[in-house]
Amino acid sequence: MDEYDYDLFVIGAGSGGVRAARIAAGHGARVAICEESRVGGTCVIRGCVPKKLMSYAAHFGEDFEDAAGYGWQLGETAFSWPRMIGAVHAELDRLEGIYHGLLDGAGVVLHEGRGVLEDAHTVAVGERRFTAEKILVATGGWPWVPDFEGAGHVITSNEAFHLERLPGRVLVVGGGYIACEFASIFNGLGSETHQVYRGDQVLRGFDGDVRRVVTREMAAKGVDFRFEALVSRIVETDDGLAATLDDGSTITTDVVMYATGRVPNTRGLGLPEAGVDLRADGSVPVDEYARTNVDSVFAVGDVTHRLNLTPVAIHEGHAFADTQFGGRPRATDHEAVACAVFSNPQVGTVGVSEEDATHHYGEVEVFRSEFRPMKHTLSGRAEKSLMKLIVEREGRRVVGLHVVGPDAPEIVQGFAVAVKWGLTKEQFDATIGIHPTSAEELVTMRTPVPGQR
Ligand code: NDP
Repeated sequence: MDEYDYDLFVIGAGSGGVRAARIAAGHGARVAICEESRVGGTCVIRGCVPKKLMSYAAHFGEDFEDAAGYGWQLGETAFSWPRMIGAVHAELDRLEGIYHGLLDGAGVVLHEGRGVLEDAHTVAVGERRFTAEKILVATGGWPWVPDFEGAGHVITSNEAFHLERLPGRVLVVGGGYIACEFASIFNGLGSETHQVYRGDQVLRGFDGDVRRVVTREMAAKGVDFRFEALVSRIVETDDGLAATLDDGSTITTDVVMYATGRVPNTRGLGLPEAGVDLRADGSVPVDEYARTNVDSVFAVGDVTHRLNLTPVAIHEGHAFADTQFGGRPRATDHEAVACAVFSNPQVGTVGVSEEDATHHYGEVEVFRSEFRPMKHTLSGRAEKSLMKLIVEREGRRVVGLHVVGPDAPEIVQGFAVAVKWGLTKEQFDATIGIHPTSAEELVTMRTPVPGQR
């Protein structure tokens, strides 16, 4: 008789957990997974997928305007938030069904409910107890909101997907991925949009030129930025929510959305009780093979708080399953992982920023092109795109590649292969471009420019 109920018990059916469960089962393991919310996790249910669909919706507003320059005459347009939200949620239901099907098809047993570790081999899901030789923690993260007077009035991205109507006025707090993406969505859909950020330009950590161009273009599209500012309190008034900033000014709005970061979901999970170390921020430290300090407990994805990106979690989950159940030890390489911000304009980036390049590689050459994309010659829109390459002078490798503008994430996904595998500037230059495209700039920039503007 087997010593344990399962070979693997996964806590959390998000991107990382589902992939690990399916692959482990494919290697012949007896696998169970538990989920307290909906199968699919943050990315499918309350993150990447609904956000991107809403971002498409928001873009139509300016597409209709741009069409006029091409001879189109449009009648009056109108936007229905309930119709968009209904369509988005129908798609999420469909995707959740697919995830259920994938787990079923792989023979993974789903236990609905919150899983809590009782010891290094036992997980309790409600009243039920399950034992497993190995336990994988894949519980992801959750939005974090600082404590201040009136914090109870704010929503996070979780609730933004369930608003009953499009708010006439929105205040977004934060300057990171989620803040920029949602400020762009609300602004594009027609809400009066304010964004309060404690820094001097959005997207800290990104290349300085990227930050400058995104800040400039979002402002040009109508987002009212308040930089170097914090919300000190929020009160409800007859005219909506009044948010007082630390400079004494007030913004009156219908919705205040905080996007001030996310914290790992480890509270009350029983990890310390099972002997698993946690960092001060609640994240689970793991080595390159997803191992915690306890032999039978592993962790992947946002709960480890490293690169909080869906494809990273998926890769980590897959590598974990291959390593533990497939006899093929594999680690996830976190170097040169491309990422995107689905703000308007969009950002795609891979490799280092100019600031970090100097630190890592010493002397670098910078190639930069800032230009009006061809589409806007006729649309009349003044928006400019950015293409930027950072080349380490000694080995000539392209170590950073940054794009701001239409389809930036699609462009960078392709170029990420070249940057990841260390192609040189000369190899970029020997690649003939596709004309006329914006992306051809990345293989036609010949003259280095002085560093950041
Ligand atoms: P980020 O860490 O990207 O941004 C948090 C923002 O909140 C920063 O601008 C930060 O300022 C600000 N902030 C933090 N604490 C406070 C505070 N006490 N008061 C005021 N402002 C504060 O987090 P997000 O929530 O936007 O996203 C979480 C993670 O999810 C991202 O890091 C990313 O890994 C992932 N994600 C990825 C997406 C994608 O791939 N497209 C989309 C959405 C999320 P400062 O910069 O000064 O620290």
